[in-house]
Amino acid sequence: MTARLLPGAPAAAALLADVAARAARLPAPPRLVMVRLGDDPASVSYVRGKDRQARAAGLESTVHALPEATTQAELLALIAGLNADPAVNGILVQLPLPAHVSEQAVLHAIDPRKDVDGFHPVNVGELWAGRPALRPCTPAGILFLLDHYGLPVVGQRAVVVGRSHIVGRPLAGLLLNRDATVTVAHSRTPDLAAVTREADLLCVAVGQPHLITPGMVKAGATVIDVGINRVPGQDGGKAHLTGDVDPAVAEVAGAITPVPGGVGPMTIAQLLANTVTAAEMQAGGQGTR
Ligand code: NDP
Repeated sequence: MTARLLPGAPAAAALLADVAARAARLPAPPRLVMVRLGDDPASVSYVRGKDRQARAAGLESTVHALPEATTQAELLALIAGLNADPAVNGILVQLPLPAHVSEQAVLHAIDPRKDVDGFHPVNVGELWAGRPALRPCTPAGILFLLDHYGLPVVGQRAVVVGRSHIVGRPLAGLLLNRDATVTVAHSRTPDLAAVTREADLLCVAVGQPHLITPGMVKAGATVIDVGINRVPGQDGGKAHLTGDVDPAVAEVAGAITPVPGGVGPMTIAQLLANTVTAAEMQAGGQGTR
């Protein structure tokens, strides 16, 4: 048996079509403001991609590219101004920040109603309380992808490997809110294979190439590979991207996301969906369940 492949592009396109339709129903196009400090190439490229896709989806997008030496007080003053500006619906501060700026202070300063990354403690609390709010983009994108392909979540034995604040933990919360039975595994979990073999739905967000091998997966399971690892090519060949899941798992699983091109495209699409949700909430609507 070879697993059904779950490419992200068609699911992301469906989400973006929904974003455009909802944006068109609002009195003005939702506005996303992104802030980045310094010239870290990955951050520059991520913000450029988000800006381009926001515009393509009919949203307004502004980027504040600030010098690396920007002080925490200057950044907090900018955020306070964006919080107070009714024309700004979503605020994203690109991480990581330089060492002299406290990530926690910055994330706490963003108005939770404009926190399109879903990292503010108010939004984290609402997620774990099962109440509507703004949800972290990668986990919410994964739920959209599962729904898009008609894969069940309710009542499934779900195992999430990884407990980061941006992927593992919020994904576990979202799956729990959708009535999965959830186990979270991490680097201190003994006999990881025994845990992952229990999963009908196995989600892996670790950052270790091919950690999950075929013997660790239940036959027919749905496997969501969040990992993005850059590995050098063989014999000095070109570096390429690979996931946390060994591609040979496709011989055992029922369905599997590819890397690249699986979960990756969902993250930016979900950021834009969150920006529309934020604008709707500011206009009196509800957040995302
Ligand atoms: P973090 O490094 O923040 O967290 C990794 C987690 O994996 C930790 O909880 C760690 O456990 C756990 N872990 C490490 N080694 C093992 C092991 N051998 N067995 C079990 N668990 C282990 O990573 P992120 O969550 O930020 O990212 C994970 C991966 O997902 C990365 O490859 C990243 O590039 C990718 N990613 C992809 C995105 C996308 O859009 N597709 C978005 C975000 C991330 P412990 O807590 O005990 O240290």
